[in-house]
Amino acid sequence: MLTTVTAGPYTIRGVSVGGVYTSLAVPELGLVLDAGVSPRSAAAIDTILLSHGHVDHIGALPALLGIRALHGKTSPPRIVMPAEIVDDLRGALDALSRMQRWPLAIDAIGMRPGDDIALRGDLRVRAVRTFHPVPSLGYVVVRRVSKLRPEFQGLPGPEIAARRRAGEAMLVHEDRLELAYATDTLVTALDHAPELRRARVLIVECTFLDERKSLDAARAGCHIHLDELIERAAQFENEHVVVMHVSQLYRPDEVAGILDRRVPSELRRRMIPFVPNSASWPG
Ligand SMILES: [Zn+2]
Ligand SMILES: [Zn+2]
Repeated sequence: MLTTVTAGPYTIRGVSVGGVYTSLAVPELGLVLDAGVSPRSAAAIDTILLSHGHVDHIGALPALLGIRALHGKTSPPRIVMPAEIVDDLRGALDALSRMQRWPLAIDAIGMRPGDDIALRGDLRVRAVRTFHPVPSLGYVVVRRVSKLRPEFQGLPGPEIAARRRAGEAMLVHEDRLELAYATDTLVTALDHAPELRRARVLIVECTFLDERKSLDAARAGCHIHLDELIERAAQFENEHVVVMHVSQLYRPDEVAGILDRRVPSELRRRMIPFVPNSASWPG
């Protein structure tokens, strides 16, 4: 039932149908993006980034928490989300915990656009603004690489160590934008946060693909239409653009053909449709 694609160094595994369910795991980064379904393989991952509180993105979170217990995970997962929904999500999980007499504990982290937190190792995640009728966020995963400042690069090791001990600022930090995630948003999110278009891999919603939904209707629901990605085709610097959250108006086996016909080839060759397996459709 799960879809798996490879985008550069990253595996993206999960399910995504616009308005129905979305959850994508990126094991190399130790991340799950949204929790609209609860595949067992995602329960092994300790950090979940939630884009917003619509149930097609968070509805399976309680199930995912339950499966973690079966995996022998004893510490609560870290759940990153828009700051505005932390109390509501806690309240919902408290009610479910009382009902099943088993705690669904989470380590909740509320973020606002521009906030930045450490994930693990040299990875950080930055929140960016998205535009939806409810509080929502996009995320950019950044690898922070520390390097010796150029003026110190010729120094012998012991001298570098001594200067560092003395508290001298020897290092510069370089942020490499590894992966970005933006779903359930007006396309203007891509204009306001150019780092989305510069990340090595961009995972972006493309709910509507052709005239079956008008651009105006797509915008009224705060969703992205393929016309809007095509308009911006020259702006994507990403190595790969993974398009997901495709509406059930489109059969999975017709999506690649629509992209082939409509998307300029320079962008199309970097674009990866993330749609359900046809064999499991409608699922
Ligand atoms: Zn959605
Ligand atoms: Zn939504």
